[in-house]
Amino acid sequence: MNYKAWVAKAAKQPMVLETVDLGPLGAEDVEVAVEHCGLCHSDLSALNNDWGISQYPAILGHEVTGRVTAVGPNAKGLKVGQRVGVGWNSGSCMHCHQCMSGSHHLCPQVQPTMFGHRGGFATHIRSHWAWAIPLPEKLNFAEAGPLLCGGITVFAPLAMYAKPTDRVGIIGIGGLGHMAVKFAAAYGCDVTAFTSSENKFDEAKGFGANHVASSKESAAIKKLGGSFDLLISTVNVKLDWDAMIGTLAPNGRLHVVGAVLEPIPVAAFSLILQQRSVSGSPTGSPVAIETMLDFASRHNVAPQTEHFAMSNINGAFARLESGKARYRIVLDADF
Ligand code: NAP
Ligand code: ZN
Repeated sequence: MNYKAWVAKAAKQPMVLETVDLGPLGAEDVEVAVEHCGLCHSDLSALNNDWGISQYPAILGHEVTGRVTAVGPNAKGLKVGQRVGVGWNSGSCMHCHQCMSGSHHLCPQVQPTMFGHRGGFATHIRSHWAWAIPLPEKLNFAEAGPLLCGGITVFAPLAMYAKPTDRVGIIGIGGLGHMAVKFAAAYGCDVTAFTSSENKFDEAKGFGANHVASSKESAAIKKLGGSFDLLISTVNVKLDWDAMIGTLAPNGRLHVVGAVLEPIPVAAFSLILQQRSVSGSPTGSPVAIETMLDFASRHNVAPQTEHFAMSNINGAFARLESGKARYRIVLDADF
């Protein structure tokens, strides 16, 4: 059987629609007919080779929702026709210490969906059964894709570190950041949205932020000194990190999920005296994703989206690159 996919042929070039031979289905794998796929900034960074690790041709896309169309003979727990989501990863070894202790996303052999594997800007995607996550019935299928990467990436640090009594700051109100505000508000935290775009102030409050602040004005940031138990940074640009770390309360934590390429300078005394931490994390495990989806469906947490036809994928990438997308683009399959 032949499949169609939008293929990135070279860095910064428009993707082209091609027919692809996926070969036989792996024994433990499932095949999913893609119905929607979110567009994450990581897709743009991969297309542009911002991280220096891209290889072409590549099929990008890692926020898939779709239905299972085939199940390998050793795949477990999934049926043809079932609604599932596939996110940043679509396989792991299933026998190492990390997999056996439930941290599959930290497996040394974890398989990213769009590096060395065919991603979701395609008619079909393949995944190890464990990484094709069943979607709760209540979840809006067309809007759920962005939860599979952006959503779990910001939910995981909240689940690991936040208490409902905490004051939490979300830095950067884009795809990840706006979902982070919604999740943190649903958790019951007091939420501050840090943005470089004043025109996002009102919408950030609509997402549940109790306060809004500039992410660029050092003097204003410094006034918030000692405030936050947890800061989650979703930006991929350099900020006044010293001022940001200074806004942490004693025992506070700056958690980095945005892929900023320049090193973040940290003064030892700023950590030592207030017993602060700086940390990071990559998406989450299958069980963490399942937990996040359950929480999202119970609390009606969904991304605010702009829908594009998959056939206009290059237009959608241009829209994301312009910084104007509000707040997550979803591509609807129209092959
Ligand atoms: P996005 O929708 O483009 O949002 C990024 C936000 O960063 C923008 O909306 C903007 O927010 C802020 N920003 C951009 N340029 C800025 C500038 N010059 N100065 C200050 N702020 C700026 O991207 P995304 O999809 O949310 O992804 C965010 C980052 O997370 C990317 O680096 C992506 O690769 C990474 N990521 C990491 C993981 C992980 O596992 N750790 C998973 C997914 C994505 P404001 O307008 O509010 O300032
Ligand atoms: Zn992503």
